[in-house]
Amino acid sequence: MTKLKSGDRIDVRVKSSVIVGPYKDYDEIRTFQIIAKDKYGYYLYVPAYYTLKNTLKLDNRQSKQLGIDLKFLDEEFIYIQGNMVLRVHSTLDGMSCSNCEEFYSMAEPNQEDDTLICYSCRQNPYR
Ligand SMILES: [Zn+2]
Repeated sequence: MTKLKSGDRIDVRVKSSVIVGPYKDYDEIRTFQIIAKDKYGYYLYVPAYYTLKNTLKLDNRQSKQLGIDLKFLDEEFIYIQGNMVLRVHSTLDGMSCSNCEEFYSMAEPNQEDDTLICYSCRQNPYR
């Protein structure tokens, strides 16, 4: 898997408002932004409009400790293990096509749901 960093976005499976592993039964797939990481996993920003169980509220101490930007102060976040990541949604350097999963550097979302469909897949959706 690609080495992820703060600012990158990942997709995870969610079941009953809990993030579950990539092989588990799920209700939906959601995209979250990584705001910090450690050896074993990632801290994800959880927007206020999205309800997730077991989230934490970022305080000054954690922000300093984890090196999380102060713009996320008082915002909700959650920690997940690295193996909970379903796939990379986009990185600061580019993103993967949601159809063929090929990675394109410098690419940006071109679909209404904030995903990318690459040129080849748009020409031929069945490839
Ligand atoms: Zn593609």
